[in-house]
Amino acid sequence: MAGEAQADCLFCKIIAGEVPATVVRETDTTYAFRDINPQAPTHILVIPKVHYRDAATLAAVEPQITADLLREAGEVAADEKLESYRLVFNTGSGAGQTVFHAHAHILGGRGMQWPPG
Ligand code: C5P
Repeated sequence: MAGEAQADCLFCKIIAGEVPATVVRETDTTYAFRDINPQAPTHILVIPKVHYRDAATLAAVEPQITADLLREAGEVAADEKLESYRLVFNTGSGAGQTVFHAHAHILGGRGMQWPPG
């Protein structure tokens, strides 16, 4: 059924506590943890607890949880005292998505270039 945990999904396993992660915040609908391979001094992932393959699919089916995810990203950035930060949703393997469970990257603590590579 749409949104159900997938046995072969790494992020579903993190939510279930089957794969370790450094959790920074949790709500009823979201989970935030430090990226295992940080690309900036602060690099945190915010994911929905429900499983959808990418952010656009999540938004199409679960608009309230998508809003929760965006609000939570702002709360995490505030907790981390980030004055500016980049919020990234890699979508599709060509854009660098490697885990097909929707997630927002919060990247901060250093200067950013535009356009990204
Ligand atoms: O956007 P993308 O799908 O590439 O992002 C997946 C992210 O998940 C990567 O930044 C990777 O470092 C992170 N990751 C993690 N913990 C794991 C496996 C992957 O934080 N156990």
